[in-house]
Amino acid sequence: MNVLVINSGSSSVKYKLIDMQSDAVLGSGLCERIGLDQPRIVSEHHGRKIVSEDDIKTHLGAIHAIIDLLTHPENGVVKDVSEISAVGHRIAHGGDQFKESVFIDEEVCAVIHECSELAPLHNPYMLDAIVACRAILPEVPMVAVFDTAFHQSLPEHAFIYAIPFDYYIKHRIRKYGFHGTSHKYLAEQASNLIGKPLDALKIITCHLGNGASICAIDKGRSVETSMGFTPAEGLPMGTRCGSIDPLIFKFLQDKTELSVQEVYTMLNKDSGVLGISGISSDFRDLQTASMNGDQRAKLAIDIFCYRVKNIIGSYIAVLNGVDAIVFSGGIGENASNIREQSLADMDWLGIEIDPDLNRQAKGNIEISSKKAKVRTYVIKTDEEISIAKDTALVLGWNFKEN
Ligand code: ADP
Repeated sequence: MNVLVINSGSSSVKYKLIDMQSDAVLGSGLCERIGLDQPRIVSEHHGRKIVSEDDIKTHLGAIHAIIDLLTHPENGVVKDVSEISAVGHRIAHGGDQFKESVFIDEEVCAVIHECSELAPLHNPYMLDAIVACRAILPEVPMVAVFDTAFHQSLPEHAFIYAIPFDYYIKHRIRKYGFHGTSHKYLAEQASNLIGKPLDALKIITCHLGNGASICAIDKGRSVETSMGFTPAEGLPMGTRCGSIDPLIFKFLQDKTELSVQEVYTMLNKDSGVLGISGISSDFRDLQTASMNGDQRAKLAIDIFCYRVKNIIGSYIAVLNGVDAIVFSGGIGENASNIREQSLADMDWLGIEIDPDLNRQAKGNIEISSKKAKVRTYVIKTDEEISIAKDTALVLGWNFKEN
């Protein structure tokens, strides 16, 4: 039983074909520059890298090319499409309609379309991929897995903004939260590592990548998360501002020549650690610059770590304690000094990491010191396997949970 996981962007489609019996990735790849010049697919099939260039103009064309590659007589990983048992689609926004993953039918497509106004840069292209898969694999069942669904368990007092209530009723302005698939996966993995069921645990998961968010999870349910109505709230990120005083928006427009669109773009694309440092959105560049004495690169790192710590502290209050803290995402998995700095001086709360374990951390591992009350882990996130598992569960497959 193989699940094809599809993650579609405006000009790209990422895919992974996963064998659910073994969790093995049979093939994966990225089709990029759809509809632009020099579209191409870079794939890894049986551990071999293949680059194919094709004139791919639409998402339908991209899915066609991906299926052709997966079933290619030489480079393919399956004999024919009969070996693709289901498709799991990552969907950015399910609004407040979807509390869990669902089988895709006409009604679900209509709601995903409706939610496009909440995620105009994501949902329409994800819907394009669904339509394309339906055309090419009409008999294959499909499941939608939403980034927002895991956070639908947030209580009202956590998701309502303090603006006139009518805007929530009329325009659905509320906290939705994102990275839900990753936070859920990380909590499950932490529970496995701890050896206790999720419903006996309070966990804080930190997904720190280009986009970064933190989640407070009580008994397996998300009760608070740092991203909000859009993925720009919360932590400062690679290029996104994170939480700032909302009135800065107007002040900037009054004081500068910037239009609404330009301020919007600045807060999304030119802010975060890139905006503070003026150097890069990539933490590797910032660390190198900081070590070479660049004060603004150091400041960007200091601000990021301070805000991670700040949110963790407040989530401990929300949860009334914490059993485990998990670091993941490109930064969380790789940058030991960011982990160390974010958790520094929290020993009063029982949080203390072992510097050596932290520095040497590879794979899924505990990095807390022996005397720490709270266990700290580094766990590699795997959103695709999580989407594939949800797909299998929604379809009622009987498969071994690894
Ligand atoms: P995305 O949100 O795009 O999925 P990732 O989770 O892949 O992002 O994280 C990408 C970021 O991870 C990079 O921009 C970089 O800042 C950071 N990163 C990756 N490897 C390292 C490393 N070895 N040290 C520090 N930061 C790293």
